[in-house]
Amino acid sequence: MKPHDYIEREEKFGAHNYHPLPVVLDRGQGAYVWDVEGKRYYDFLSAYSAVNQGHCHPKITAALIEQAQKLTLTSRAFFNSVLGEYEEYITKYFGYDKVLPMNSGAEGDETALKLCRKWAYLKKGISQDNAKIIVCEGNFHGRTITIVSMSTDPDARKDYGPFTPGFITIPYNDIPALEKALQDPDVAGFLVEPIQGEAGVFVPDEGYIKKAYDLCRSRNVLFIADEVQTGLARTGKLLACDHEGVRPDILILGKALSGGAMPISAVLADDGIMLTIKPGEHGSTFGGNPLAGKVAIAALEVIREEKLAEKAERLGRIFRDEMKAIKSDMIELVRGKGLLNAIVIRPKNGKEAWDVCLAMMELGVLAKPTHGHIIRFAPPLVITEEQLRDAISLIKKALLQFS
Ligand code: PLP
Repeated sequence: MKPHDYIEREEKFGAHNYHPLPVVLDRGQGAYVWDVEGKRYYDFLSAYSAVNQGHCHPKITAALIEQAQKLTLTSRAFFNSVLGEYEEYITKYFGYDKVLPMNSGAEGDETALKLCRKWAYLKKGISQDNAKIIVCEGNFHGRTITIVSMSTDPDARKDYGPFTPGFITIPYNDIPALEKALQDPDVAGFLVEPIQGEAGVFVPDEGYIKKAYDLCRSRNVLFIADEVQTGLARTGKLLACDHEGVRPDILILGKALSGGAMPISAVLADDGIMLTIKPGEHGSTFGGNPLAGKVAIAALEVIREEKLAEKAERLGRIFRDEMKAIKSDMIELVRGKGLLNAIVIRPKNGKEAWDVCLAMMELGVLAKPTHGHIIRFAPPLVITEEQLRDAISLIKKALLQFS
């Protein structure tokens, strides 16, 4: 089969809910992926930061295979021999009393919202059905009905109403707006991405996260961090909130919690919050399965053993410096933290971010535009400096084709 045969088959039998670049991938190792014809590329998307540990990391793959041959799923109707080990490991790793295991990032966010509402009624004393949660314009927390109810992206919402009530939307990176919204005594939580990834890698002003956290604390409002994309070493610290010394009341993780091997998400909180949910009140058939437990432990070990946060911090600086040095009038702005970066593209002669991505693809670097004019660059954190510099030279070459 040729690449276009694969593409046509997906078009014919799959829903058209994505618009992929025309490349058909077949194999991956570390920072590289290969297409069905054997051509090699640098992966600068890392499955939206799920593959921080690199494709098919040997330690994660070994953990997966070993546990897959033993026991994969019991449901939570019974105890299993791995879940407790994983729960102890992840709670100690991040310093929380408890974890609630789920699968996708969206489920993690949904869990956090439910937890926040439970806490509002059982602990904060908000009257039934009146709890509100503050969210930010430009947010991305997933695709469920409740989550798109919080979204301000018309594409995410169009024709999906009616929407879930109970959210107050404020501009991102706007402390006075948060202060004002927090005046409402029915506010139970503030859900925020420490850097808005899908929106185009919007890095808020320094101090924003800390100030927001302090304001929430002063109003007895839960500070809920969605670190599904920013967490797990991507931005140069284990968590993006660590840049400002903030420990969220509720922490949501996903994506790289498995290193890309399978969907694993987690919600972490202390007992005062987590124990408001009682047996039978929330769950998931696959959440907390022993396969995921072993995979997540291995994925977290890799982050520590290979010092991926430090690496992201160091290589991220190189990446941004090199991008800023490229003399292309298509580059309007370079921004990011660690190895979560973006270039805002200024269209030229009818050529846009999509065309730049196609040119990079031809040269062997895969990245995807977000919102039409922004290209996100997020390679696996296991990328070496030599590989990064090689990829940078290809990105530069692609951009200069349009000069
Ligand atoms: N939260 C954030 C910040 C994300 O970036 C994403 C996905 O991109 C999600 C949640 C949703 O995760 P999933 O696609 O696994 O449901």
